[in-house]
Amino acid sequence: MNKPAEAPEQFDAVVVGAGFSGLYMLYRLRQLGLTVKAFDSAGDVGGTWYWNRYPGARCDIPTTDYTYSFDPELEKEWTWSEKYATQPEILDYLRFVADRYGLRADIEFSTSVTSAHWDEQGKRWSIATDRGAQLRCRYYIMASGCLSMPKSLDIKGTDRFAGKVYFTSQWPHEGVDFTGQRVAVIGTGSSGIQSIPLIARQATQLTVFQRTPNFSVPAHNGPAPADRLARLAQDREEYRDAARWSPGGVPVEPTDILGVTASETVARERFEEAWKQGQLFSILGIFADQGVNPASNKIVADMIRERIRSVVHDPETADMLCPKDHYFGTKRPCLDTGYFETYNLPHVRLVDLRRQPITSITEDGIDTADEFFGLDAIVYATGFDAMTGALAAVNATGRDGLSLTEKWAAGPSTYLGLMTAGFPNFFMITGPGSPSVLSNMAVSIEQHVDWVADCLKDMGAEGFETIEPTPLAEAGWDQHVRDCGAITLHPTANSWYMGANVPGKPRVFLPYIGGVSVYRQACDDVVAQDYLGFRRTGPGGERCRDGVIRRMQPDVSLVLQLMAGLGMPPMETLSPDEARAMMAAAAETLPPSPEVGEVTDGMMPGPGGELPYRLYRPASAGPHPVVVYFHGGGWVLGNLDSDDPLCRDLCVQSDAVIVSVNYRHAPEARFPAAAEDAFAALQWTAAHAGELGGIPGQIAVAGWSAGGNIAAVACQLARDAGGPHVSGQLLITPVTDSDMTRPSYTENGDGYVLTTPLMHWFWDYYADPADRSDRRAAPLRGNLDGLPPACVVTADFDPLRDDGLAYADALEAAGTQVRRVRARGHTHTSVTMVGVIISGAPVRAEIAAALRDFFPSRTSLGN
Ligand code: NAP
Repeated sequence: MNKPAEAPEQFDAVVVGAGFSGLYMLYRLRQLGLTVKAFDSAGDVGGTWYWNRYPGARCDIPTTDYTYSFDPELEKEWTWSEKYATQPEILDYLRFVADRYGLRADIEFSTSVTSAHWDEQGKRWSIATDRGAQLRCRYYIMASGCLSMPKSLDIKGTDRFAGKVYFTSQWPHEGVDFTGQRVAVIGTGSSGIQSIPLIARQATQLTVFQRTPNFSVPAHNGPAPADRLARLAQDREEYRDAARWSPGGVPVEPTDILGVTASETVARERFEEAWKQGQLFSILGIFADQGVNPASNKIVADMIRERIRSVVHDPETADMLCPKDHYFGTKRPCLDTGYFETYNLPHVRLVDLRRQPITSITEDGIDTADEFFGLDAIVYATGFDAMTGALAAVNATGRDGLSLTEKWAAGPSTYLGLMTAGFPNFFMITGPGSPSVLSNMAVSIEQHVDWVADCLKDMGAEGFETIEPTPLAEAGWDQHVRDCGAITLHPTANSWYMGANVPGKPRVFLPYIGGVSVYRQACDDVVAQDYLGFRRTGPGGERCRDGVIRRMQPDVSLVLQLMAGLGMPPMETLSPDEARAMMAAAAETLPPSPEVGEVTDGMMPGPGGELPYRLYRPASAGPHPVVVYFHGGGWVLGNLDSDDPLCRDLCVQSDAVIVSVNYRHAPEARFPAAAEDAFAALQWTAAHAGELGGIPGQIAVAGWSAGGNIAAVACQLARDAGGPHVSGQLLITPVTDSDMTRPSYTENGDGYVLTTPLMHWFWDYYADPADRSDRRAAPLRGNLDGLPPACVVTADFDPLRDDGLAYADALEAAGTQVRRVRARGHTHTSVTMVGVIISGAPVRAEIAAALRDFFPSRTSLGN
């Protein structure tokens, strides 16, 4: 008779991992009174710090900050000995924590979870381990680390080598003595850079095989920084709170100095100061724009390269050590102690694998294209399958049999980096889509663990048994994560952040780069909005408030915050002259605008006197199509300068002559002055196209906001007058009607620069109520037959969004070809902020493409 199968043990929660995150998760779950079992494949606690025991292994965030903060008593009982503690000391700390809270009792070491299946009926996870155990649990929590799955070896012949082989990520516990040996280190990331100087002290001969040189700055290790210790002593909780609400999880004062505008002296001073500090967040924060602007980044990168060349004696070796193929910070920079100096030692040699690739590893060494290196030992410091590797390793199967690797075949998809749809009650600590590896892990881990624990507590209190993100919320977060990455230089690098180090891994920017504080706020907001985007179920039914937590482009929200911080009065409380002065002052702070071939100012006749215009000519050989452009400003504000950056951008990107016209403004010249001027400007430009360097007959009109309004009107008037012929109308977030009852006036009426009260202010100055239904004020009310093709740009956070949409609908209904461009996550003004709002660039590129398409004959001429 068969022995009956043992019933699986039941737990409330299973935690995978007993490092920084697993230990704290276990602690919090126990506090909630839940039954928990944790597993770790290691023989003890420590996670990363259990495995990575290579010589020189240290943290690279000051240890004063790389530490738990959840218990003030714990902090009193532990004092770090150095600014950057060694691996043995950090491991001791984690052991101390495990003992202090008696955590080991619930951890099974040397045990890996091999499978996890969601049982939809029983609302439980079924878990199996490599020791044959079967468990059932309600919550399954992966605290398995972001850099814990070593990358598979992808070098030919690795199994042939008969000498000693070591991996920095799995270093022997008894240590290694390289005395008298010929040693190779492959890999120059943080692990290689930390270990190479110490291996060089023992080895008779050390050859470093480098594929990509890395930026590294001296750690200047020593006693813990006095300023941090003083702040901690003064008010520990204030310090920890500042870390929690900082961009990177370490309290640093962010700068607003831009590299592109800083003087050489300021740039040098800031660099020297950061260099002296020996801290990653200092060197990464020399300029506010170094992570997004190539020119600013180059200033920092050049200074680091200068340092490398000043340390390394042999110019050829120094050159090989200088990173040139990626922007500083787009691959994880390193902190080192004597790394570059090591190459001045006579027995240390650097091999550049780009020039001299490895052909194979052999029984007794490494063969390259031109040379053989005889070796006794090889150290692989080749990195990790970062962020997703450990999660994919326990290939969890969620609802309907969907596995995590299937779901993530094209890259991970998560809500807040905490959960993923289709996998109820499955949590990730610092998963992809969270700040994690871009931040001080200790701070991010505590925040994630606290969020999960609080969520489970809330679920218990409200009688829910399952929680899972909705597809809408998850897609929204994924988009936000991508939007944040896209405005930075990160996607340009072949980094492990991008999955580029693992052959075949989808190229996706894995972490969330919006910052620790911004992220924490998003997580808090989700909870405050009744777990927005999560579906919770229980015996009493389900609750789900579906939605997207962050829809705005990250740089747009940053600019809105900065503007709010300036405390400027609402424009509608000012007089027109005061408002004009405020706009002029703001324009002076803008970065340099794009270069065009030529800019000339001139005057053209208008119905009420001469009208100033500014002509932008592309650098390419003419003649060019001509675009007559009308600036924004609610018919009251704006001038040739206010829209100069946008006109330059349009000129460069569309390869058209732009004629920007300064029409008459209200209240000095009320309706219909602006509309009449627009039509007159179109007529004059069409008549003089040849003299202006344009192609006669190839004229389009364009305008932003109120400029879009009069551009649309000019098209209608031209049609009625039988000319001039207009090839296209580009209407950027236009005013098309005086009816302010459309939903966007309510949804977006406040907080996004252009407000509903401000629109009232504009209309009041521009047109009498009786005139506002005139088609020259409200072109939507005009006859829309026979109008030129249109490109209508609408922005999500714009009171005028529905004006644009209504006009696009009406034009289409009248048979006009319409190209709709949605400025996703933008406000009325942000799309036009050239050089300030990076996320507007793709929208402006689409706008320019639409302009070019107005002139197909020119395109077919090959221009
Ligand atoms: P890594 O940064 O990915 O570096 C791996 C190195 O191996 C790179 O130089 C890589 O070159 C090279 N490599 C990989 N495959 C190769 C191949 N087939 N042939 C030749 N070279 C190859 O890995 P890591 O140094 O282990 O560091 C990973 C991350 O862990 C760090 O960025 C950091 O976040 C963390 N870490 C932190 C500390 C600390 O101080 N706290 C210490 C160690 C690690 P390519 O660049 O060309 O791919």
